[in-house]
Amino acid sequence: MKSTLEKHYKIQQIRSLTDSAYVVRFDRNGIKFLPGQHILLGPPNQIEAREYSIYSGTEDDYLEVLIKEVVPGNVSRKLKRLEVGEELMFDGPVGYFTLNMRDVLSKKYYLIASGTGIAPFHSFVRSYEQLDYTLLHGVKYGNEAYERDHYEQERYILCTSRDEEGDFNGRVTEYLKQNEVDTDALFYLCGNINMIHDCFDILQQKGVDARQLQAEVYF
Ligand SMILES: Cc1cc2nc3c(=O)[nH]c(=O)nc-3n(C[C@H](O)[C@H](O)[C@H](O)COP(=O)(O)OP(=O)(O)OC[C@H]3O[C@@H](n4cnc5c(N)ncnc54)[C@H](O)[C@@H]3O)c2cc1C
Repeated sequence: MKSTLEKHYKIQQIRSLTDSAYVVRFDRNGIKFLPGQHILLGPPNQIEAREYSIYSGTEDDYLEVLIKEVVPGNVSRKLKRLEVGEELMFDGPVGYFTLNMRDVLSKKYYLIASGTGIAPFHSFVRSYEQLDYTLLHGVKYGNEAYERDHYEQERYILCTSRDEEGDFNGRVTEYLKQNEVDTDALFYLCGNINMIHDCFDILQQKGVDARQLQAEVYF
C-alpha cells in the first residue's frame, strides 16, 4: 500500500523473537485504540507502508507491533533494519476486528491465529483481564511460540506443523477436526487466508453459526 504517513514516532525498544520475527516498541503519544485495531507503518522517508495489528495493551504507555520479516518483502525487511532511537512513520489506528464489552463479560472466545496473526490476540489478552479464551496458535516450528509466557498456559495451545515441539503436532485445522469446541463460543481468526477459510468450513460443519465467526486476513 502506498501512503504518505504524517506522524513520526520514536522507537524505544526492539525485541528479537526468532531470526525473522521481532517486536517493535515505540512512543504512544496519547494515541487511543481498541484492541484488535491495526496501524499503517513505514520506514522514514519512504512512500510504502503496511498494516500491522497493535500488539500492546490499552493500558500500556507505549505501542508495540509484532512483525515477521517476509523474504522477499519490501516493508517488513526495511522495518527490521531500524534501530532504537530512529523514527517510524505511522497512521491510524483503524479496523473493526474488535470485541464487544458485553460479550467479553459473558462469552467464551476461541482465538485462532497463524504466525504473527497472534498479534491482535496479544492485545486482547493484555487489555481485557477477564477474557475467557482458548488461544490456538498455528506455526511451523516450536520456536515460533511468540512470547507464550504472556498468556495463561492452560489457555494457550501451540500447534506445530513441521516439528513435534507443539502442544499439538499438526495444523490448527487438524486440531479443530480432532477436538470438541464449545459451539456457543465466539471465534476470532487471524492470519493466512487459507487457514481462515479452512477453519470456517470446519467450524460450520461442527455447528458454529457464521455470525459467531470474525476474521482478519493478513495475506
Ligand atoms: C489488517 C492487517 C494487519 C496485519 N498485521 C500484521 C502484523 O501484526 N504482523 C505482521 O508481521 N504482518 C501483519 N500484516 C501483514 C503486513 O501488512 C505485510 O503484508 C507484511 O509485513 C509483508 O510486507 P512486506 O512489504 O515485507 O512484503 P510484500 O512486499 O508486501 O509482500 C511479499 C509477499 O509476502 C506475502 N506475505 C505477507 N505477509 C506474509 C507473512 N506473514 N508470511 C508469509 N508471507 C507473507 C505477501 O502475500 C506477498 O506475496 C497485516 C496485514 C493486514 C492486512
